[in-house]
Amino acid sequence: MPIGSAMKLDLFVNHQHVPTDAYFEVRDPGNFSEVVAMVATGTARHVDDAVTAAHAAFQVWRNVGVSERVERILAAAAALEAVSAELATTLVKEQGMLLRDTQRDVANGIKTLRETAALAEAFLQSEEFEDEGCLIRIRKVPRGVVAAIVPWNAPMSLTMAKVGPALASGNTLVVKPSPFAPLAVSQALQVVAGFFPPGAINIVHGDGEVGPALTRHPLVRKVSFTGGIKTGKAVMAAAAESVKNVGLELGGNDPAIILDDAIPADVVPHLVRGIFPRSGQVCYAVKRVYVPAALYDKFFDMLCEAVSQLRVGYGLDPRSTLAPVNNRNQFNFIKGLIERTRQSGAEVYQLGQKVDPESWENGYYLLPSVVRNVAPTAEVVVEEQFGPIIPLIPYRSEEEVLQMANGTEHGLGSSVWTRDFDRGLQFAERIEAGLSFINSHARTGLGDRHMPFGGVKQSGIGRVRTTIGLAEYIEYHAISLNKTNMSNIKKEGHQDAT
Ligand code: NDP
Repeated sequence: MPIGSAMKLDLFVNHQHVPTDAYFEVRDPGNFSEVVAMVATGTARHVDDAVTAAHAAFQVWRNVGVSERVERILAAAAALEAVSAELATTLVKEQGMLLRDTQRDVANGIKTLRETAALAEAFLQSEEFEDEGCLIRIRKVPRGVVAAIVPWNAPMSLTMAKVGPALASGNTLVVKPSPFAPLAVSQALQVVAGFFPPGAINIVHGDGEVGPALTRHPLVRKVSFTGGIKTGKAVMAAAAESVKNVGLELGGNDPAIILDDAIPADVVPHLVRGIFPRSGQVCYAVKRVYVPAALYDKFFDMLCEAVSQLRVGYGLDPRSTLAPVNNRNQFNFIKGLIERTRQSGAEVYQLGQKVDPESWENGYYLLPSVVRNVAPTAEVVVEEQFGPIIPLIPYRSEEEVLQMANGTEHGLGSSVWTRDFDRGLQFAERIEAGLSFINSHARTGLGDRHMPFGGVKQSGIGRVRTTIGLAEYIEYHAISLNKTNMSNIKKEGHQDAT
């Protein structure tokens, strides 16, 4: 229901819209004058209601056969496709990204649902082993209520990457969207929920009270969290109280390593796309670039030339090629980081063009920055920036660059750039990361189908996508039947109920 031009968004529990005592405001990050939504602030009591509803729905949904679950997921994906244009536009307004990026986010969310549906039936089959004396059946059973906690940067695909495998495996969910992008995700989830029993998908918005209440609730059996490392640690600590299964997709600080045989003119255009997707607000964006010392100046000049062409503006303005950042914290952090980097003695070049200089102060607009002459241990190199700023670090040997690339607690993505495929593959195998790309820093369609996505070290626990991602949502129930200890054995009725 609209309030003025803003949408009023309630909680969603057991297929019911639930109003609350307080509502928070979501403003357009690219146009502060517009309040996009007023969103219900949930409390621990609402979390309890939602988890209770999800737990009741679990008793029903777990007994629905896998083929019916898959059919419903496919029907939900088709229904989402029908409203995808509207969802993408809403996302621009609440989240600030370029329309082409929000369209991709929505499309990826739908694709994720379909990919999960394609894998589920074969994957969820029980396995059996038998000899004369014994039958062993390994069942793949759902865990129960899943708490899905998502960030704002690619909310649609990240949410659907939890919803698809959770529901396909027979679980139910309580979703907590980010307060910086709650609207389109909620609209999409409500469309999806229509294909499932009441309580299978519940949505609780809120501030600091909701996340901890959800991750502590004793009836939640799995927490699937995507967000920052610091929050991930709090989630893990809270989940430990009742020994919940935890999946964590956390921050990254991806190195791009340019080998000495790479041709800068070939690398730079692709690298720019790897550095600045969503204005650098992507967990596996390139966040530090290592360049052979002999190529450094040439590479720096070419990178600056390419970055100068970026046009920073409103997400719905077709002239824009770089959007504002999403929120005040992020905006202030990047501005402070630029200041601190300059004070440390490094050179920061703010490049790019302002699409609409008159509206510049009316959004979280930042020009993209390239940093040179920076120490390998500087904050802008070793911390995740999550914004439009990139440091270039020179190196002199492969051993040195590997040590710098691996010498951090991050381990999400990485890339190697070379004309020699074998050298690239060998080098990539020495990087400590969940994902390594050679001559790109982006997923492909084939990669989406076959690359499990996730990080090592403090970049996370577990994987999403592929059957490895599906496996995160099941428990194994191993049953052993002794065939020899009973007389007058009845042989029928050994069918698996899953
Ligand atoms: P945050 O960690 O700040 O927030 C993520 C979600 O967690 C929000 O919904 C937030 O809502 C909630 N939250 C915050 N505190 C708690 C708590 N104590 N318990 C439970 N939930 C809590 O991340 P951002 O939204 O700022 O997202 C940016 C980060 O996400 C970056 O570090 C990025 O790298 C990472 N990320 C990782 C991805 C991956 O696949 N590895 C993909 C995308 C992003 P609220 O604040 O209202 O509580």
